Amino acid sequence: MKRLTFQGIPASPGITIGKAFLLDVAELTVPAQSISEAEVEINIKQFRRALQSSSEELKRFRDQVHSGLGQDLASIFDAHLQFLKDPMLVDEVIEIVREEKLNIRHVFGKRVKEMLLQFEQMDNAFFRERKSDLYDVARRVITHLQGQRYSSALDQMEEEMILVAHDISPSDAAYSQQRHVTGFITEIGSQTSHTAILARALAIPAVVGVPNVTHQMQTGNVLILDGTTGTVIVNPNEEEIEMYRKKQNEYKIFEEGLAALRTYPAETTDGYRIELAANIELHEEVNAARQYGANGVGLYRTEFLFMNRSDLPSEAEQVEAYSTVLREISPYPATIRTIDLGGDKFISPLEFPRELNPDLGCRGIRLCLQRQDIFRTQLRALLRASTCGTLRIMFPMVSNIEEVQQAKALIQEIREELQQEGIPVNDSIEIGVMIEVPSAALISDQLATEVDFFSIGTNDLIQYTLSVDRRNERIAYMYAPLHPAVLRLIRRVVHNAHKHGIWVGVCGEMASDPLAAIALRGLDVDELSVSPFTIPLIKRTIRLISFIDAWRLMEDILELPTASAIREKLNETFGKKVLLPFK
Ligand code: PEP
Ligand code: MG
Repeated sequence: MKRLTFQGIPASPGITIGKAFLLDVAELTVPAQSISEAEVEINIKQFRRALQSSSEELKRFRDQVHSGLGQDLASIFDAHLQFLKDPMLVDEVIEIVREEKLNIRHVFGKRVKEMLLQFEQMDNAFFRERKSDLYDVARRVITHLQGQRYSSALDQMEEEMILVAHDISPSDAAYSQQRHVTGFITEIGSQTSHTAILARALAIPAVVGVPNVTHQMQTGNVLILDGTTGTVIVNPNEEEIEMYRKKQNEYKIFEEGLAALRTYPAETTDGYRIELAANIELHEEVNAARQYGANGVGLYRTEFLFMNRSDLPSEAEQVEAYSTVLREISPYPATIRTIDLGGDKFISPLEFPRELNPDLGCRGIRLCLQRQDIFRTQLRALLRASTCGTLRIMFPMVSNIEEVQQAKALIQEIREELQQEGIPVNDSIEIGVMIEVPSAALISDQLATEVDFFSIGTNDLIQYTLSVDRRNERIAYMYAPLHPAVLRLIRRVVHNAHKHGIWVGVCGEMASDPLAAIALRGLDVDELSVSPFTIPLIKRTIRLISFIDAWRLMEDILELPTASAIREKLNETFGKKVLLPFK
């Protein structure tokens, strides 16, 4: 049997060895057939019944997920339910059946395909995610149209297996919990796609974004999946199986060792401590943050509350979400970022004009200041929740000082409004800004006089400083967190923050890379915020190095001309100590 290896995106850590289970892709379309006048109404009735049964099933499923995994993950299925009422789908299909007198199964499949194509052409993450949601719902409706009860293909799985598919729908991913799934491999997806988020929530190792993988294996093929590095091996040889079994054991021991660090501080060998906080997208993740030993939530991306739905979250719903995070992470603080919509993050209830260059367009704080109706509701909800813990409010995409002043004035107005209404508000809320645009880094001395803290968003700071689109795989090799220009900006921001007596954190992905985390520690950053499951790894790294060594190295290293020279120097100095034994 042919041995093949693939490299994908590591989406959920851990190693698994087992047999592949290929999820079949249901055929969306069937040939068109003319139907008689009398059959038109029968077809429409069948369609309505299929929609009704799908809706009942999805509601049951949503409730199960809600009780097992929480409201945020369950809301993925609310997005599915919306499709069943979407006039673009339902009304149009009925109209076409009536007008063209064609069989419902054909018309429905064809309409779904058209919508999928439209989503594909809209090049942003939100619509890519909608694509797999629509596909998931369509499969369900089609099974009902065929007069069958929808049952997941996973029901055929009789032993522990690794699920391989073009895309794993959120319902199959959540259902895996009840089956024998030991890993996920998908052809598409990113670290923030629903499948990846669910895989991490379920602690199932996953690799996503492996092109054409389904064409090159069959159900029953033996696989090795390394969710930590993104490697997939099909039909591995005996030595490889042996080697990965060893790695699997080492990983287990390593994980246990990391778990044992839970209650220890992220302190260097010479006694310098750094705060280690968690980045979360869903408020349920706050449990994972606690479990992995976070000293707080360093970034709560609240825009996820606004996505995958057809209405805006109400003030009450937002109060509930923010209060949960504040209460659960207490006594540690929670840094809640106001919505960072625009760019590649869109929401369906808002009609935005299409922009030629959305990353430089109306996003983050710019959008909030233009749509103060939405911003005020969020700020009211934040202030109302503030009595539940230690709240820090942070504004994204700030590029000048006026934006900060306007946002702060709004907070003050709302504080007074709530006081008049007799609603208590915590009077020691810290206000901060993200430093993710070069202009903000360059005026950080001035910004520091307006706020209580900075959080450096390196994902965007790198993109804007190097002019490298963070999502464009053709220039991904140029996206270099250790580029001297980026490190010099960070050094400047830390210097200005400390000069004005405020603290500074880093919440971009860069902080998750052990060597980059050492560089940030050496630049005297006060807090690193990473995804919950990366916290133990970064804590281990910090506990293995000396701050003075890291600081000294950073004094010289910024004179090196390239990112690769800087990485090499960091690796030479600290690699042996901190890099993982099983990688
Ligand atoms: C960043 O830009 O580094 C950041 C943390 O924000 P986001 O990834 O949500 O843009
Ligand atoms: Mg950002």
